[in-house]
Amino acid sequence: MQLSWYSICNVCNVPLNPKICTRGKDNKNFVRYYKHIRPIFTYNNEKFYSFMGSGIKVKPICYSCFTHKPRPSLEALRSRELGQCRNVLPKSKSKSEKEILHWFGGLIREANKRGLIKPKSTF
Ligand SMILES: [Zn+2]
Repeated sequence: MQLSWYSICNVCNVPLNPKICTRGKDNKNFVRYYKHIRPIFTYNNEKFYSFMGSGIKVKPICYSCFTHKPRPSLEALRSRELGQCRNVLPKSKSKSEKEILHWFGGLIREANKRGLIKPKSTF
């Protein structure tokens, strides 16, 4: 089993379109079963394109950043200038890399318990 994504959001740095690659009917059925018993909401991690900065270049961003353009308030900008806080952008609704890897670690642990992933031999 392998977790992969090919691009990240240019605004909030979350992985875009994460997917699990498996081989074999048993592994695919197990991944479907695990998604059912421990669901993860990754619809906000879908890839969209938007104009960024000046110019006509488009860059990939997540659905959450596409629908809700993050704009910091004047109070947040003032507190950043005074050094009271560093990050003024609101938190994205997309799943971060850490959350997705935590979920995938649980999937691997459950697959090891069920004997779907065979340990590598040392011989
Ligand atoms: Zn984003």
